[in-house]
Amino acid sequence: MTPWFAEGQVAQTRHALVIGAGIAGASVARSLAERGFTVQVLERHALVAQEASGNPAGIVLPVLSRTGNALSHLTQLGMRHAQQRMSTLMQHDTRIDWQQSGVLRLARNPRHAAQQEIIAAQSAFPADFARWVDAAEGSALVGVFVEQPGWWFAGGGSVCPPALVHALLQHEGIRLHTGVEVRFLRREANAWVLADAQGAVLAHCETVVLANADAALNLLPDAYAKSLPLAAIRGQISLARMTEGAQDWTRLHAVACREGYVIPARDGQVCFGASFTHHAQGREPSEAEHQGNIERLQAIFPQVTALNMAQLGGRVSYRCATPDRLPMLGPLHDAPSFRERFARLHLGGTMQRYATADVLPGLWLNVGHGARGLVWAGLLGEALACMISGEASPLPRDLIHALHPARFDYRLMRSAPAHRKAWVVGVDED
Ligand SMILES: Cc1cc2nc3c(=O)[nH]c(=O)nc-3n(C[C@H](O)[C@H](O)[C@H](O)COP(=O)(O)OP(=O)(O)OC[C@H]3O[C@@H](n4cnc5c(N)ncnc54)[C@H](O)[C@@H]3O)c2cc1C
Repeated sequence: MTPWFAEGQVAQTRHALVIGAGIAGASVARSLAERGFTVQVLERHALVAQEASGNPAGIVLPVLSRTGNALSHLTQLGMRHAQQRMSTLMQHDTRIDWQQSGVLRLARNPRHAAQQEIIAAQSAFPADFARWVDAAEGSALVGVFVEQPGWWFAGGGSVCPPALVHALLQHEGIRLHTGVEVRFLRREANAWVLADAQGAVLAHCETVVLANADAALNLLPDAYAKSLPLAAIRGQISLARMTEGAQDWTRLHAVACREGYVIPARDGQVCFGASFTHHAQGREPSEAEHQGNIERLQAIFPQVTALNMAQLGGRVSYRCATPDRLPMLGPLHDAPSFRERFARLHLGGTMQRYATADVLPGLWLNVGHGARGLVWAGLLGEALACMISGEASPLPRDLIHALHPARFDYRLMRSAPAHRKAWVVGVDED
């Protein structure tokens, strides 16, 4: 390990607390329970998966890159894990509705298509993972006419996230406490104490995982706002009922995306989306965002009608995003001491000059899943459970570093003090 990306303290006991019952919290709880941990999951809502993980359907597909960057590597590994995990869980609970239908990702414009064709020619992706197809083949693969070429991901598909979260939490080692909001986190003796708004103790434990998206910052000292640059980005999906003459929608048998996505009908409803609205608030669906979703849908299937657009359903939630679009996974570093210890990092020098960063013992982070939580949360739950229990990680070292919660402080310290600017979360897409 490098001195700035500390490994964290392996748990001495087989007990853990997880804050948040979305896909991130449920995945790590399950992986810990499978290792013999007794896990208590605390969730502020009366039901699980009520926030970002609460859409009735979501898609699982990888990101490709010419250089094989961390984002694309993580999504590829995440996909493989997700496929296996969901197929296994489906044997016991079909409500998860994992449909490995394949996903067609269309080129956004001719220039994009030309770039992607070069990537396709230069890369040796296995055909069952990613294949560049022309519009005719793409149309045949999804069952509906499309006008652009695109990538065909045969292993991709769609899933019902709340059912997946529910299924992951069904394990004898997991106790779920709903309607419990953690408002304070403090260290006493060798444990972390979780308290409610009145200061009453909810639970205490040596090992705590913060899997509560950007709300994790509310439980940490103010210094972490800069160390953990998490932004909540509003997203709205639209749900449309099929009307008379909806043959196109019944023929659609795979997910199709371009700048937005559309998922084959479930229970007579087609789910499409999603908006990406920075600095927005509120939980009510807006007409403007429905309109944006319709435009994204029409860009995929310009010739398809027969959806009841006059009476759209919708759902709003918030993605917890980071500036580099990668999640934050691992031990939480002691931010003030980190900045002191590595204050001269911008001047260069060797690793040996530095003592390893201090961590807050037993406190772990699993947040910042942005627009891809369904793809990688399972793998990351497994990776975090390995860190906590001291097992070898399923992630290669470069990815462990790329996801480390100290990475933004490290990058700040690498730049000259005059250039240490606030991080900005950029635009992404689902
Ligand atoms: C519109 C939209 C469409 C999306 N589509 C896709 C898609 O197609 N494919 C894909 O891979 N990803 C998609 N995503 C992203 C994906 O949904 C998220 O990455 C994922 O759900 C994040 O899971 P999470 O567990 O980190 O967060 P959440 O699901 O938000 O879970 C956090 C939980 O913590 C709880 N909590 C917070 N604070 C506290 C506290 N103090 N005490 C107790 N509990 C607390 C919350 O109530 C919540 O249940 C989409 C996101 C949006 C918004």
